[in-house]
Amino acid sequence: MLHKTIDFSSLAVSGVRALQPYQPGKPESALKREYGLDDVIKLASNENPMGPGTRAIEAAGAELQGAHRYPDGAGFALRHALAERHAVDPMQVTLGNGSNDVLALVANAFLEPGREAVFSAHAFAVYPIVTQAAGASAVVVPANAPDHAMPFGHDLEAMAAAVSERTRVVFVANPNNPTGTWLQADPLRAFLQGLPAEVIAVVDEAYFEYADDPDYPDASLWLQEFPNLVVTRTFSKAHGLAALRVGYGLSHPAVADLLNRVRQPFNVSSVAQAAALASLADQDYIAQSVALNREQRDWLRQALQSMGLQVLPSAGNFLCFRVGERADAIYEGLLRRGVILRPVANYALPGFLRVTVGLPAENARFVEALQAELRA
Ligand SMILES: *Cc1c(COP(=O)(O)O)cnc(C)c1O
Repeated sequence: MLHKTIDFSSLAVSGVRALQPYQPGKPESALKREYGLDDVIKLASNENPMGPGTRAIEAAGAELQGAHRYPDGAGFALRHALAERHAVDPMQVTLGNGSNDVLALVANAFLEPGREAVFSAHAFAVYPIVTQAAGASAVVVPANAPDHAMPFGHDLEAMAAAVSERTRVVFVANPNNPTGTWLQADPLRAFLQGLPAEVIAVVDEAYFEYADDPDYPDASLWLQEFPNLVVTRTFSKAHGLAALRVGYGLSHPAVADLLNRVRQPFNVSSVAQAAALASLADQDYIAQSVALNREQRDWLRQALQSMGLQVLPSAGNFLCFRVGERADAIYEGLLRRGVILRPVANYALPGFLRVTVGLPAENARFVEALQAELRA
């Protein structure tokens, strides 16, 4: 009986006590179960609608033969392939259980009570979670105004101004999720130049492969210039391997050494390492995925705009669009029609919804369902 009287919440560390857990997109299986539907489409978590590449699937399957063995905790083959790809030393690569894991490693290595992490409003939801879990304070910087060329995107000048002597980490999502907005090379580089050398600058490039603005930067090329820079990438989006959980960070070797001290010894499975290695070599699959995304993102944007909806600029594989006060009802209505989107009110974007660019038939079905909901 004693256990019933204990207030476990009061026993938790202060950062965890007030933590709001991450809200993932609704899985297809949950929608089928809850609504009794059997034909549903998920456009809620920015996954690659083509599925994983054949080479990744084959490599993962073959690797299962050795599943009784612990994985290579140092991820030798994958780290070396990534180092070659980015022309860095393997010591600069930190593997993560998704890039999410790398974001948490940064927080665990550099944040604690009394320290601050700076990031933008409407930025990726994991930044506040890892900051708070480490007991540090989040400094959430107001984003660009709604009528800016990059509405709700990162305001780098305001972010620079928010850095104090307590700041130890700055998170920049480029492009940002859920808005889709991005930063061009010159302003981002100037921002990094202006940061104190003691502030770890995380540039999260989860959607790197999809960005097609010629002025969109590859921040990994700046690692020499900025020893405080951590660039994160993932195999969850364009590489189509979200379920396997593999991502990585690129940084100065001394920073990577610190991240590796807090990393779980076997944080990336052998199956994930093998699939990522194969996918890295499968540039045709990536090129096809990116081409499909470009074509379908344009098609979706047109379709949404022709319904009179505001659509934010996007360099990713998703679009954030405004449906107004009925956003919750429209989200629910779409669920009843078997279409899962992502509500973004928890990102301080009430009235907006986010849709992942799917296959042509999925996008068409979503547009039809949305038209019906808007008429309802
Ligand atoms: C999806 C996403 C990630 C990471 O996902 P992982 O599956 O953990 O690699 C990181 N940053 C942003 C902005 C994302 O949207």
